[in-house]
Amino acid sequence: MTKFSLALAAALLAALASAGPLAAQAAFSALARVLPEQSFSADRGDALTVEIALTQGVPYRVYILDAPRRLVVDFREVSWQGMRPARLTASALVDRAALGQVPGGWSRMVLGLTRPLALKTAEMKSDPAAGTAKLALRLAPVSAGEFAARAGAPPAPPGAPSLPPAAPARTPRDPAAPLVVMLDPGHGGIDTGARAETLKEADLTLTFARELKERLVRTGRFKVFLTRDDDVFVPLETRVSLAHQQRADLFISLHADALAAGRASGATVYTLSDTATDIASQKLAERHNRQDLLVGLDLSAQDDTVALVLMDLARLDTAPRSENLAEALVRGIGDSGTRLSSRPNRGSGFSVLKSPDIPSVLIELGFLSDARDLEDLQSARWRARLAGGIARALVVWADQDAARAQLLRN
Ligand SMILES: [Zn+2]
Repeated sequence: MTKFSLALAAALLAALASAGPLAAQAAFSALARVLPEQSFSADRGDALTVEIALTQGVPYRVYILDAPRRLVVDFREVSWQGMRPARLTASALVDRAALGQVPGGWSRMVLGLTRPLALKTAEMKSDPAAGTAKLALRLAPVSAGEFAARAGAPPAPPGAPSLPPAAPARTPRDPAAPLVVMLDPGHGGIDTGARAETLKEADLTLTFARELKERLVRTGRFKVFLTRDDDVFVPLETRVSLAHQQRADLFISLHADALAAGRASGATVYTLSDTATDIASQKLAERHNRQDLLVGLDLSAQDDTVALVLMDLARLDTAPRSENLAEALVRGIGDSGTRLSSRPNRGSGFSVLKSPDIPSVLIELGFLSDARDLEDLQSARWRARLAGGIARALVVWADQDAARAQLLRN
């Protein structure tokens, strides 16, 4: 997939370079237009600032590619009319610029970089009065090695269906083999998640994921992977595809969000649902899915009808397994003596729960907005109790799930 994306991006870059920046402009009816006078690149010390002003906000994604080094920004339908690429090469860190349209309703900007730079912040700010929007990117120097490691197109090339393998043609698992668990510490990198005092949700979820991994491995029943083992940004879609790559048997996303005071405290286990259990759950999912869009990923490409039908079929089997998993977790966490929220088993539309064939849950370990949860989350003893409860729950679920599979086979 990545190889394909890279090849596609390279081909498009070549096409852009040869056909001129405004190729395909005529056939394109854009909703948003670039505002050339307010769009530019500039040096800020050794960092690069790029600002693109638009007549309205649009989904976008940002990534870097190597050999040659370049920054790529894809926008959903932007007309580049009137924009001279020279405005974008004002910085000494940018040696060429290309603008154009690419298949699938995307508009692409490619900037050649003279040095290895990595994205530090990406923010689309809108001006409600004028209705306009501005994408501000800041890139800072990194080593050539780090640049190469970070380089790569997002999992879905523009216009291509960005779905995980839909029909679960799984070979029957060896009952003696350890279950593969993908732990997903929420947030990371430019997406810090919730904050309280000096604490970041991204750090708390990573600490807990590492501790839980150890606890699970010690049972001898599980093989455990993390979607990130560092303070780095990982798009939601990538988290899901990592689980597929490792052929994970279950996926557990870990969060510790903030909600308006008094709204929530204690652990809550979420499963995927079209209709959220309550408004707070819906808002929480929307905030996470939107945050991902803001830092550069669009999930709206998932509209291939055939694939959706296949996914629904797979979900018929997976949904009850996720429900059983959530129930086991609520019992296990309850028995561990850590606190559950008033309604510990909820449904909501979190993007990371959308794997059609892998039972998936999202655990809010507690809420950073609650004073007692905040204290608990920082206590190694409390976390060990919670990890123990989750580990026991997974053992119970694994046994039940194996028994259920056996029953279905007979
Ligand atoms: Zn979160």
